[in-house]
Amino acid sequence: MTPGGVGSCGGTGANPTGDLQSRLIAAAAAVIAENVEPLSALDRAIGDGDHGINLNRGFSALAAAREQLAAEPLGCALQNAGTMLVMKVGGASGPLYGSFLMAMGKTLGDAAPTPERVVAMVDAGVAAVKARGRSDAGEKTMLDVLVPVSDALRKGAVAGVARTELVDAVLRAADQGLEATRDLAATKGRASFLGRRSVGTLDPGAQSSCLLVHAVCRVIMEDAK
Ligand code: ADP
Ligand code: MG
Repeated sequence: MTPGGVGSCGGTGANPTGDLQSRLIAAAAAVIAENVEPLSALDRAIGDGDHGINLNRGFSALAAAREQLAAEPLGCALQNAGTMLVMKVGGASGPLYGSFLMAMGKTLGDAAPTPERVVAMVDAGVAAVKARGRSDAGEKTMLDVLVPVSDALRKGAVAGVARTELVDAVLRAADQGLEATRDLAATKGRASFLGRRSVGTLDPGAQSSCLLVHAVCRVIMEDAK
């Protein structure tokens, strides 16, 4: 790692996905910054009230390193961004979101992000969160959004549907997954201390995942125009 906090696997010359990386970082950091209070409010209800603050620390660090991260090849930038989230976010969600990005980056390696590879990257990210959290969908966590999103992405990609349709299916999966956390009792993370009393509130990590999925999809749709 360099003193700036960004790793040194950076490429030489023009990066074909650099502009996309820059816009993804800006969009993710913006949606987290705009939702610090609502995210922390959900976490106050069933956790310790720091989820918005935790994530904003990490995503504003990504925004500050945006130029450097955008100059690196995508696989490398994802790994470095993941490491930054682990270091800056803290709590349970830092290592989980960090593992997600690092696994995506490792899976892509030096390759270009074809649709098939993006599916494999997201699948690897979800598997890494499951392994790190020893958790799965149905436990009132971010996985209740991330698992249906990866399923929708894989199904749509295998069926070869158009980008708009694929993005719609992904957004629906994220929204439904988030909403389903309301009726679940948490069995992982701090909210599990409340047991049945966690029912009735959306999971903060599922809410942040849903916001991030929307932000990423907005950038991808802008790109298609
Ligand atoms: P902390 O709980 O340490 O205060 P945060 O408030 O930043 O950390 O993040 C809480 C979120 O992390 C939860 O809402 C949940 O979505 C997610 N989370 C916690 N533990 C796990 C786990 N074992 N597996 C998956 N997600 C988890
Ligand atoms: Mg918390």
